[in-house]
Amino acid sequence: MYYIGIDIGGTNIKAGIVTEDAKVLIKDKIRTGAERDYTEIVADMAELCNRLVEQSNLSWDDIDSVGIGSPGIVDGKNGVIVFAGNLSFRNAPIGAELKKHINKPVYMGNDANCAAVGEYIAAGKKDMECYVFVTLGTGVGGGAVINGKLFAGFNNVGMEVGHIAMHPGGSRVCTCGRRGCWETYASVTALVAATKKSIAAHPDGMMAKLAEENGKVDGRIAFNAARAGDEEGMAVVNTWIENVAGGIVDLVNLLAPEQLSIGGAISNEGDFLLEPIRKIVKRDQFARNVPETEVVIASLGNDAGLIGAALLGKAQ
Ligand SMILES: [Zn+2]
Repeated sequence: MYYIGIDIGGTNIKAGIVTEDAKVLIKDKIRTGAERDYTEIVADMAELCNRLVEQSNLSWDDIDSVGIGSPGIVDGKNGVIVFAGNLSFRNAPIGAELKKHINKPVYMGNDANCAAVGEYIAAGKKDMECYVFVTLGTGVGGGAVINGKLFAGFNNVGMEVGHIAMHPGGSRVCTCGRRGCWETYASVTALVAATKKSIAAHPDGMMAKLAEENGKVDGRIAFNAARAGDEEGMAVVNTWIENVAGGIVDLVNLLAPEQLSIGGAISNEGDFLLEPIRKIVKRDQFARNVPETEVVIASLGNDAGLIGAALLGKAQ
């Protein structure tokens, strides 16, 4: 059987047909037109799905189910997008609306949770009791799959890992309103802010030069400088990684996952990011003389949300 995944974003809606082992057969995207009524957006989504089925020479009989991932708060049980910041959806019954067009089971989840499901299945390890995914981007998101089921708490807002307290009452105000949340220290946004601060203090340094060549400051500047042995670059990267790893240690202490994988574009930094995190987890975790959590880089890249949405039906 095949699975259709739909990944709703503020700008684009991506959809794809995915195999049981998390491979994308075909995918495409359309403009979201987020200002429109949800019924119009869902009609476009259905049309996109029909087109993909046709283009891949499949029939709807080959499709097991359709999964939808969305930013914000998603009530998967009732098929409702409760709240999504960049989209106008408020308590929008997207699942029921899509079923008017497509006669298949429809599953829904928050985008980070979908990515967690995709990465869990792509990891290909059967019978993992607990798996945790963390994604480092504009914010910090994540998800957990426990005994093969996506865990999102009783009200679908569980595993908001970016909003665990790294420095309660600290100086950094989070988008959620609280001070000192993990994502204000461990997001790529935080890394970029630290890079800019260091560039301002060292205008003739390597990072200033790299940023000028690059045309802007992004998450790679500090990593590239650190790789080249630049002291300021190393200082920015080391501090950021300490903050990333600090939260990961908390998740390891709390959930003791068999595997924890790190996603988001910054995970392309590979071992340069992963190895110091592994060292800190080993140093700081509570676990002693027991099998330890395997910390790895996530494997699906940009398609994690789409693939995970498609495979949501497999993690119910
Ligand atoms: Zn927060």
